[in-house]
Amino acid sequence: MMTSVLFQRARVIDPRNGVDGIRDVLVTDGRVAQVSEAVLPAPKDARVVDATGKWVVPGFIDLHVHLREPGEEGKETVLTGCRAAVAGGFTGVVAMPNTKVVNDSALVTELVLSRARDAALCHVYPAGAITKGLKGEELSEAGELVGAGCVALTDDGRPVMNAALMRRVLQYATLFDVPVMVHEEDLTLSAGGAMHEGATSTRLGLRGIPASAEVAMVARDLVLLEETKGRLHVAHVSCEGSVRLIREAKKRGLRVTCEVAPHHFTLDDRAVGDYDTHAKMAPPLRADADVKALREALVDGTVDAIATDHAPHGVSDKQVEFEKGINGIVGLETALGLTLALVHEGVLTPRRAVELLSEGPARVFGLPGGHLAPGSPADITVVSPGEEWTVDAHRFYSRSRNTPFHGRTLKGRVTQTWVGGRCVFEDGQLKESR
Ligand SMILES: [Zn+2]
Repeated sequence: MMTSVLFQRARVIDPRNGVDGIRDVLVTDGRVAQVSEAVLPAPKDARVVDATGKWVVPGFIDLHVHLREPGEEGKETVLTGCRAAVAGGFTGVVAMPNTKVVNDSALVTELVLSRARDAALCHVYPAGAITKGLKGEELSEAGELVGAGCVALTDDGRPVMNAALMRRVLQYATLFDVPVMVHEEDLTLSAGGAMHEGATSTRLGLRGIPASAEVAMVARDLVLLEETKGRLHVAHVSCEGSVRLIREAKKRGLRVTCEVAPHHFTLDDRAVGDYDTHAKMAPPLRADADVKALREALVDGTVDAIATDHAPHGVSDKQVEFEKGINGIVGLETALGLTLALVHEGVLTPRRAVELLSEGPARVFGLPGGHLAPGSPADITVVSPGEEWTVDAHRFYSRSRNTPFHGRTLKGRVTQTWVGGRCVFEDGQLKESR
C-alpha cells in the first residue's frame, strides 16, 4: 500500500493560501504534508508524479448536483454520479434532495451517504429538503436532517413560494448554521414559459419566462434575509438583475452567497436555435446582457462558486416537443473546460477560476477541503490546462447524455483526481477500489 505521493514541478494554485507558482507537493497518509518551492526528495515508498506543465489545485467541489438516487436510477445513481464527478475533477459534490423519495428525513440522508461510502470515489454531501415532500407546505425536520449529515436546506427544482414559510426557515436554519439554498422562480411569472422571454422566444413562438420571475424572488428573499439575519445561498443565478441585488446586499454585509452554472455564463437564449431541448433548463438560458453580467460577477467576487446543476435525464425526456422537454443538462464532465474557456478568453485569471471551483464552494457550505495547506485532506485535482479535447457525450461516465456541448472543443482537461491521497481517476480511466 502506497502511503506517499510526490507531485514534482507542478504549478500549484491554492487561492486560500496565496500560492500560485511552481512547487513540489508531498502527500503522506492521505493528507498534504508539504508544499515546497525547493525540490523535495522522494520518500522511498512514494509514487512520484511528474507534474511539469500541469496545475495541481484543490479538488473541485460542486454545490449543486442531482444524483437521482433513490428513485430514478435509470438516469443516474450515486455511484455513476460519483464517477462523473471525479472524471470532471470534483472531489466533493452536494446532492440535491429532489429525488423520487425526497430527502426530507434522516433515513434518505443516510441512504445517500451509505451509497456514497460504497462508491468510495468522492465525498458526497447531502442537502435536505426545506419542506416535506418539497410540497412547500410544511417545514421538514431541519435538526434531524443536519444531524444525519445534511450540509444545506433546499427545495431545489422548486421555489418556496410561501414567503412566511421562507421567513421561518431562514430563522430556523440559524440554529444549525446551515445555509438555505434557493431556486428562485416566481411560478406565477414563469407559468407556461418554456424559455427566456426575449427575441428568440418571440421568433420561435414559445411562451417566455421573464427575468423578473427570478429577480423578484431574489429581492423578496434578501428582504427576509435582512430581517432574520439568516444565511441565504442563491442557486444558479441567471440574470443581471439578480446579480445587482446580490452585489448590493453583500456590500451591506448580508450573509448571502451565490453560484452560477457554466451553461449560464457560456450560452445565451439563442442556443435554443431550432427548438433544441438540450438548451432547456430552469432557470432558462438568458440574454446576451445577462451572460455579460454573470461574467462580471464571476470576476468581481459577487459570485462565490461555479456549480453545475448536473441534471441527468433520459433520451425520452428530451426527444419531445420543446415545451414538453424536461429541464436540465448534465454538467460534471464539462465544467472545467467551460470554466477554463473564460481563462483562455482573458475573463478570469487561473487563480480566480480555481477559487470558484474549490475554495469558494468549500467556504460557502463550510465543507472540508478547498485548499492545500499542510494537514488538509489530499483532495487534489491535476489539470492539463492547454490540452484540447472534443466533448463526446457517449463517453461520459454519467449515466445520462443530455448536454448542449456534445461536439464542442474545449481546452483544458483533468488528468488526475485524488481523494484523501488516493488516485481515483487518471488519464481518462477510473481507479475504483471496489
Ligand atoms: Zn434549481
